[in-house]
Amino acid sequence: MDNCIFCKIIAGEIPSTLVGESELSIAFNDINPRQPVHILVVPKHHHTDVAALAFDAPDQLVDLIQLGSRLAAEHSTGSFRLQFNTGIEAGQTVFHAHGHIMSTTPKNGMQTTTEESSALA
Ligand code: AMP
Ligand code: ZN
Repeated sequence: MDNCIFCKIIAGEIPSTLVGESELSIAFNDINPRQPVHILVVPKHHHTDVAALAFDAPDQLVDLIQLGSRLAAEHSTGSFRLQFNTGIEAGQTVFHAHGHIMSTTPKNGMQTTTEESSALA
């Protein structure tokens, strides 16, 4: 899809910090992390948002969640929040479906502040 920043990352035209990949999905660090672990899980094919993905390609959505949960176990304790902002009013800014995998507790045991923890509540 022209002018889609995530399609350009998938095509290797824009750099990203790749943290994982599966047949149907890729994962890279969010450029503006809001938690100590903040990974974006993204279908390799373009879909506008998670609702379109669920209706049009549920296999890709399942693959994305499987990749995200595997990476959450690799990069954190395995406890994570998975967020899909869907629509402008919900804060979606990139209109290529993606899930935010967020965790306050990286695998290396780094402690987080109360503010960071409560931001997830
Ligand atoms: P959303 O607001 O749910 O659409 O999330 C879009 C996310 O993409 C935001 O958290 C941004 O920080 C992130 N983002 C935007 N551009 C890039 C990029 N080039 N590499 C990594 N993350 C990005
Ligand atoms: Zn795209």
